[in-house]
Amino acid sequence: MSDTIDQVCQKMANLQLKGLTAEDEFPDLSQHNNHMAKFLNMDMYKTLRDRTTPNGFTVDGVIQTGVDNPGHPFIMTVGCVAGDEESYEVFKELLDLVIEDRHGGYKPTDMHKTDLNPDNLMGGDDLDPEYVLSSRVRTGRSVRGFCLPPLCRRGERRAVEKLSVEVLGSLTGDLQGKYYSLRDLSEAEQQQMIDDHLLFDKPVSPLLLASRMARDWPDARGIWHNENKTFLVWVNEEDHLRVISMQKGGNLKEVFTRFCTGLTEIESLFKNKGFSFMWNEHLGYILTCPSNLGTGLRAGVHVKLPNMSKDSNFEEVLKRLRLQKRGTGGVDTDAVDGVFDISNADRLGFSEVELVQMVVDGVKLLVEMEKKLEAGESIEELMPTQK
Ligand code: ADP
Ligand code: MG
Repeated sequence: MSDTIDQVCQKMANLQLKGLTAEDEFPDLSQHNNHMAKFLNMDMYKTLRDRTTPNGFTVDGVIQTGVDNPGHPFIMTVGCVAGDEESYEVFKELLDLVIEDRHGGYKPTDMHKTDLNPDNLMGGDDLDPEYVLSSRVRTGRSVRGFCLPPLCRRGERRAVEKLSVEVLGSLTGDLQGKYYSLRDLSEAEQQQMIDDHLLFDKPVSPLLLASRMARDWPDARGIWHNENKTFLVWVNEEDHLRVISMQKGGNLKEVFTRFCTGLTEIESLFKNKGFSFMWNEHLGYILTCPSNLGTGLRAGVHVKLPNMSKDSNFEEVLKRLRLQKRGTGGVDTDAVDGVFDISNADRLGFSEVELVQMVVDGVKLLVEMEKKLEAGESIEELMPTQK
């Protein structure tokens, strides 16, 4: 009788191990502060290294980024990635714990909800543009049937690019645009787009490098955008697709509306070609980094908070509002002149609309607090309760 898939996978795993034991290979995690390192112990490692996904992804592939990157100054990193849709099932003993810890107690039995109807968002068209400089909503999507960036082969990556460019070429009206392959962009053009906050950074992040997502750079990477650069799609960076809606000022409602329309249209164009996005009822949309599961949505604004950010309550206020801060140059940068990127901290267990609502309400409050401090007044009575 021929082997089952599981048996084949176990044989593959054993071949890769070359007779080395878990003790021979267990990584040194003694200096580490990330979600993976918190949960990976020898027993679990022993169990998981006996397996591969049908595409050949191993537990060492899952954890490498977290082994090589002990910690992060701004946010606690996740320390692991998926190489394919099956990774979340095959390595669930580890990934379920990471997911639960990273996503506020989200249990293996919990179900995720999707709501991409912008009519359900309350307000959001009136964030004070004196303080809110720009608004942005992004998510990722993975095309079912292809390995994710940490594992995909060169040819798979090219196939994802080809398919995406065809699909995006069918968008019409305000969403009509053009694809720019990194190969065809000069160094200066790329840098300009990065400085304009449109394009992803060069693969300089140690997190990205250690996860092996940057292999073959810039092959099959690129950016598609509409004419006025308010709707953008990144191809083959950290995820197969990153879909972004953005514009200057504080109209997050308009940004979110365009995001929902465009994303829904893209999904149906993929469907027409016989492709779907990786999704299930428990994890929502499946992406490379476990931190992005669910909605994959990060709605954020660049907002001036020079006083508030110096206040001793800043961190606590953000925590209670379920928001996170970054620098304005991207995840690895520091704030300049008190301008921060403030966005939702959650991805999973809340719908898209609920997350954007948290940003709308939270940023309104932060701006109100900033104005109080500016006037030399106390913010005590504005302190929010834990959301
Ligand atoms: P993500 O990975 O969530 O897309 P990053 O923190 O890596 O975000 O940032 C990617 C790029 O998007 C950076 O150039 C950053 O400056 C830009 N960006 C993020 N949020 C905003 C915003 N609200 N307005 C303008 N640019 C933004
Ligand atoms: Mg990023």
